Amino acid sequence: MTKVIACAHEKGGVGKTTTTVNLGVGLARQGKNVLLLDADPQGDLSKCLGVKNPRELTSTISTVMDYLIAHSDEDAHPDFEYTAPIRQHAEGVDFIPANASLAATEVTLVNSMSRETILRQYLDMVKDNYDYVLIDCRPSLGLTVVNALTAADSVIIPVQAHILAADDMDALFKTIGRVKRNLNPRLQVDGIVMTMVDSRTNYGKQIDTLIRQAYGSKIKVFDQTIPRSVRAAETSAAGKSIFQYDPKSKVAEAYQSLAKEVLVDAEKRLKRSTERSR
Ligand code: ATP
Ligand code: MG
Repeated sequence: MTKVIACAHEKGGVGKTTTTVNLGVGLARQGKNVLLLDADPQGDLSKCLGVKNPRELTSTISTVMDYLIAHSDEDAHPDFEYTAPIRQHAEGVDFIPANASLAATEVTLVNSMSRETILRQYLDMVKDNYDYVLIDCRPSLGLTVVNALTAADSVIIPVQAHILAADDMDALFKTIGRVKRNLNPRLQVDGIVMTMVDSRTNYGKQIDTLIRQAYGSKIKVFDQTIPRSVRAAETSAAGKSIFQYDPKSKVAEAYQSLAKEVLVDAEKRLKRSTERSR
């Protein structure tokens, strides 16, 4: 069974892309088949995976979404090359890139019949080949993010360990609730991941406590946090994950252990739901 996880937060620069790449490669290192999907017209995930100039790509996530929007009247799509944008990365994950065309696709979606479900329709065609599909969302709550949440089984919310972080998430939770009620009842929140944590400072420890107090009773906050490190910031330019760039670093260790935590949680959830359905 495939699990589709949207990595989402309305706020920019909280570590969504870094988490998608390194959690994805971390899951692949645990033997899982992983597809990473860039759902941000900035194309940051694509750049992190070594695409030098996303603008030059002719086959991206928007190419397939545009096709499905244009052919929404048809039951079958025999001419549709739905695997065309899927690429292989040297570190054992597949990925689908994005570029600025995705911003135009989002505009087209507004008047489309299936404006919230195009991405789900597409992922349903390709996801069976994978154990995990991770979607790197853009920093917004617009239609592309709604598409990602509609296609997803769950959401992981990276939160930059900062004193204001606890105030930032109301709009995101409203959107998740709206998608769950109207479009995707199975949507769950897997948890909040604290990124860029300065755990050696008192300030860092206070923020950890604050976020766990503010959200911990309602939502899981992953035990594993991601430390702040310049090595993490350097990986995007290198086009590699932290596991290739600096395998012995604290950040590599943290993302590997986050991947294990995600796997353990997924197994627990699966066990609970099979017990319930007996
Ligand atoms: P956007 O909202 O623009 O898509 P994002 O939420 O995807 O941003 P990232 O791009 O992953 O966030 O990270 C923001 C910046 O912080 C990047 O420059 C990244 O390299 C850096 N960064 C990410 N994780 C860490 C870390 N653990 N320590 C230090 N810097 C980090
Ligand atoms: Mg990003």
